[in-house]
Amino acid sequence: MLALQAYESQVCPLCGMHTSTCHDEESVTSLYRTGRVEVCFATQMRNRAIQEFESSGTVPDDMRGAVTTTLTPRPPAT
Ligand SMILES: [Zn+2]
Repeated sequence: MLALQAYESQVCPLCGMHTSTCHDEESVTSLYRTGRVEVCFATQMRNRAIQEFESSGTVPDDMRGAVTTTLTPRPPAT
C-alpha cells in the first residue's frame, strides 16, 4: 500500500504523466509542440449513464458524485 501511495503521489491526476515532467514547463515544451483535443467516447458513454441516472429523480443528494459506471459489452458478432 505504501508503494501505491508513493507511486500515485508522483502521477499527475490531470494528465497521468509523472509530475516531474508535466509540472515542469520547460520539460513539457521540449517534449511537445502543441496539444490536440480528442474525445474519449467511453467517458462520454459513462457520462450519459450518470446523467440518465441523476435525472431519474430518485437519487439522494448525498449520492451525487459518488456513483461509478461500468460499460456493458455488446454480444460477439456471429
Ligand atoms: Zn499533468
